[in-house]
Amino acid sequence: MISSIRVYFLGTGGSWPTPQRNTLSIGIRINDEAILFDCGESTQTSLMKSSLSLMKIKRIFITHFHGDHFLGLPGLIQTMSFYGRTDPLEIYGPVGASTVLGNLLSIGYYSLNFEIRIEELRGNSSLDFGDYSIAYAKANHTIPALSYSLIERDYAKLEEAKIQEQKVPRNLLEKIRREGAVKVNGKTIRLEDISAGVRKGRKISYSGDTRKDESLTNFFRNSTILIHESTGEKSNENKVISYGHSTGKDAGIQARDSNTKRLVLVHFSPRYIDIGPIVEEARSIFPNVTAADELMEMEVSINDQQA
Ligand SMILES: [Zn+2]
Ligand SMILES: [Zn+2]
Repeated sequence: MISSIRVYFLGTGGSWPTPQRNTLSIGIRINDEAILFDCGESTQTSLMKSSLSLMKIKRIFITHFHGDHFLGLPGLIQTMSFYGRTDPLEIYGPVGASTVLGNLLSIGYYSLNFEIRIEELRGNSSLDFGDYSIAYAKANHTIPALSYSLIERDYAKLEEAKIQEQKVPRNLLEKIRREGAVKVNGKTIRLEDISAGVRKGRKISYSGDTRKDESLTNFFRNSTILIHESTGEKSNENKVISYGHSTGKDAGIQARDSNTKRLVLVHFSPRYIDIGPIVEEARSIFPNVTAADELMEMEVSINDQQA
């Protein structure tokens, strides 16, 4: 069962790094393990400045192979090796992942003391990791690209009075959640004997690079947090869209139409010294907007997801 989910904004700028913003990487700690969505150039140094240990990262999900989303991988992986990592690292990405990552990890005299498992994701589907799953869907960009959602599993709400009435030992509560029933002194207790209703899991969605797209509205549906790209605003709209991106307004529409609770904007074009107009545009459509700052952290409480 997941108690804590925390999001780390390790890189929040689009296209190329600037002194103010690194390129994209979002870390998510789920209890004691972590995943990354994208791994832009300075991800490893951002991790070192944050409270998220790079050794905790178990899986990395790359949205697409534009440099601002994956060029941090070789350095991060090499440092993991210097730190003595032996656990395998899983890297997922869209079509082409095996070739691109295979090439990337064979440059120079690169030696590792742990295994890297690369998996290409095709179509729209999801991967089940037990307490959470990662869903993926095709984004609307200029090259093959994915959007991702981390979806916590729904849990039955346990009722204290019923637990006591049925005399279920506390150390069996996880097992009964997982398996649906346990035996206590020869008597079978079913999950429904001690529960009432369902506690909806948290959902954290990340657009990667994409134009506004109706199919994604469905994919992002009921997100606790939607981390959405917003490369520019209306004065630049045609250019933004022709390069396969969204404006602040587009991000606001995606959040509003998908019934998202909170929108966090990332991937600002480095051309904008002041991102105020992008944020205002999103806010004119959807009120609960935060512009991500470098190294911002966000705890996602289970209460944020109560229906
Ligand atoms: Zn990008
Ligand atoms: Zn891109």
